[in-house]
Amino acid sequence: MAIYYDYLIVGSGLFGSAYAYLATKKAGKKCLVIDKRPHPGGNLYCENIDGINVHKYGAHIFHTSEKKVWDFVNNIVPFNRFTNRPIAITDDGKIYNLPFNMNTFYQLWGVARPEEALSIIEEQRKDAKNLLLKSGIDEPRNLEEQALLLVGKDIYETLIKEYTEKQWGRSCVKLPPFIIKRLPVRFTFDNNYFNDKYQGIPIGGYNRLISGLLDGSDVKVDCNFFDNRNYWEKIAKNIVFTGKIDEFYEYKFGKLEYRTLRFETEILNHPNYQGNAVVNYSSLKKPFTRIIEHKHFEFFGNEIYDISKTVISREYPSEYKEGLEPFYPINDEKNEMLYQKYKLLADQEEKVIFGGRLAEYKYYDMAPLISKVLSLFS
Ligand code: UDP
Repeated sequence: MAIYYDYLIVGSGLFGSAYAYLATKKAGKKCLVIDKRPHPGGNLYCENIDGINVHKYGAHIFHTSEKKVWDFVNNIVPFNRFTNRPIAITDDGKIYNLPFNMNTFYQLWGVARPEEALSIIEEQRKDAKNLLLKSGIDEPRNLEEQALLLVGKDIYETLIKEYTEKQWGRSCVKLPPFIIKRLPVRFTFDNNYFNDKYQGIPIGGYNRLISGLLDGSDVKVDCNFFDNRNYWEKIAKNIVFTGKIDEFYEYKFGKLEYRTLRFETEILNHPNYQGNAVVNYSSLKKPFTRIIEHKHFEFFGNEIYDISKTVISREYPSEYKEGLEPFYPINDEKNEMLYQKYKLLADQEEKVIFGGRLAEYKYYDMAPLISKVLSLFS
C-alpha cells in the first residue's frame, strides 16, 4: 500500500486539529484526521439548539496570557469578550462569588477591607501550617493540606471540600495538591475566575474554530483507529495520537483511571434560568457539581432576552468505565506510576507523537495545548 499522508492524526480535538492546521498550513504536509465520534472537535464540539451553542462536553472558556496563542486562535475565528464569573451555591441557599476574592470574604465573614480578610486567612493558614509542622511535614501532601494552607479552614469547608469530593469521587486527602493550586485567591473585588490577560469564546461557537483548524486536511468521522489499526498505521509516515495512551499499548501494564462527566441537558421555555453561565453547587447533597446555562457564553446584557428559550446542563461527575468518555486523568500516585511506564514506551517511538489530555495523561486547559503545538512547529 502506498503511503499517502505525511500525518495520520488520531482524534480531532484541540491538539489534533491545531496540529493538523500547522502541519498543513505552515509545514506544507498532507494530513488525515480521523475521529471515532460522529463529529470533529472532540470535547469542544457544540450543538446548536434554538440558536444557542450548547457545549455538549462541558463548558469551555478559552483563556491565556500568551499573546501568540490568543493571536493564533483569533486569526482562525475572532473571539468575544466573555468573562467567566462563576458563583457557588451552598446547601443553605447562600451565594458566594468565585474565585476566592473580597466579595467571597465579605459574604463569608462580613469583612469589607482587604486587610481584615487577609488577617482572617493568615490566621487560618498559620493554624494549618502549625498542624503540619507538628507532624514534621513542610510540604502539602494532598489537596486538603494544600487547600488549608492556601485559603484556611472556613473556605475549605464551605466551598472546596464537598465540591471536590463530589467532582473526583475521592476524599480530599487522597487527591494531589496541584488540582486546587489553579484556583486564584485575591484581595480585590474581582470576580473574574481567571488571572489571564485574554479570555473569550469564539464568535459563532467552537465548531468554527475547529473547522478553521481542519481546513486543508482530510477528515473522517465515525472512524475508530483501533477497529483497523494495521491499515491506519500504514497509511501515513507519522502518527499523531491524541487518544488514551494505555489503549494505544493495549493496556499491557494495566488501565489508567479517569473521571467522567454525564450531562443532563434541558431546554426551558424561559429566557433566563440562573442569570449566569456557571453556577457551582458546593454541597454533596446535590448530586451534580454545576449547572451551565449556555446562552450566557455568547449573549450579554439584554441580548439574552432575544431568544425566549434557554438551554441548561447539569454536570454529574462519575467514575469512568469502558464505553464512557474519559474526561479527567486522575493524577494520583498510583496512576502516575502507571503512566510513567507507558510514557517510557511512548518516548521510544520514532513515528508517533503523543499529545493532549488523554495521550499525555495530564490535565490541560485549551491554551497550553495550543502553546505546546505552536512550540512543536517553531
Ligand atoms: N473547586 C472547588 N470548588 C468550586 C470550584 C472548584 O473546590 O466551587 C476545586 C475542585 O477541586 C476542582 C478544582 O477546583 O476540581 C478545579 O475546578 P475548575 O472548575 O476550575 O476546573 P474544571 O473542573 O472546570 O476543569
